[in-house]
Amino acid sequence: MRIDIITIFPEMFVGPFNHSIVKRAQEKNIVEIYLHQLRDFSTDKHRKVDDYAFSGGAGMVMMIEPIAKAIEHLQNERHYDEIIYTSPHGELFDQPIANRLSTYVNLIILCGHYKGIDERIRQHFITKEISIGNYVLSGGELAAAVIVDTLVRLIPGVLGNEVSALSDSFQNNLISPPIYTRPRDFRGWKVPDILLSGNERLIEEWKYNQALQRTQKYRPDMLNEK
Ligand code: SAH
Repeated sequence: MRIDIITIFPEMFVGPFNHSIVKRAQEKNIVEIYLHQLRDFSTDKHRKVDDYAFSGGAGMVMMIEPIAKAIEHLQNERHYDEIIYTSPHGELFDQPIANRLSTYVNLIILCGHYKGIDERIRQHFITKEISIGNYVLSGGELAAAVIVDTLVRLIPGVLGNEVSALSDSFQNNLISPPIYTRPRDFRGWKVPDILLSGNERLIEEWKYNQALQRTQKYRPDMLNEK
């Protein structure tokens, strides 16, 4: 999979993309991530990419021309499955969206700033808008990093044990059951006996019941979905 990110702050991705699973996925050549500085597509000598809003009002607007050039530059090279704009107005990001995106071959993610982007970009270039929550970030970079991290770990071969992504919270509309590791007894706080019993069938049953109970307690909304 190839992901192209258009941003005015490419250095914001250095941390999230150079550690842990996302780093390993790139090293294994399972995913290629390219960061494009939007200012490189500006026609202005000061590399300006924002301008005042028509009709006034507070805040600057990202101009259509540099973004159109950046997207078309990429589209000239290959077909993109989606051109995503990170936006608080978008579809609320969740595990099913991540599952779908993880099956794609080429993606563009456009990160907004200031008051947002010229409406015509949304009308003519953007195929999908994604929000990471009902709050306003100062820019799309953190949202893009969240989206990339979530979908990269779903691509087969990225996680050492592929079963592990499937057993994560949300994959079956349940949050995951409690987990434990050594020691069996810490200050008298014991690991549930069942997990040490070696009885696979009972353990699976226990895990499922725990997941169900925890979902009822913490996320009853998930049980009402679908
Ligand atoms: N004026 C806009 C907010 C702009 S915030 C409004 O009122 O709706 C600046 C940029 O941050 C946006 O263009 C978008 O790319 C990004 N952003 C802000 N909140 C976001 C969210 N919840 N999810 C994804 N991207 C977000």
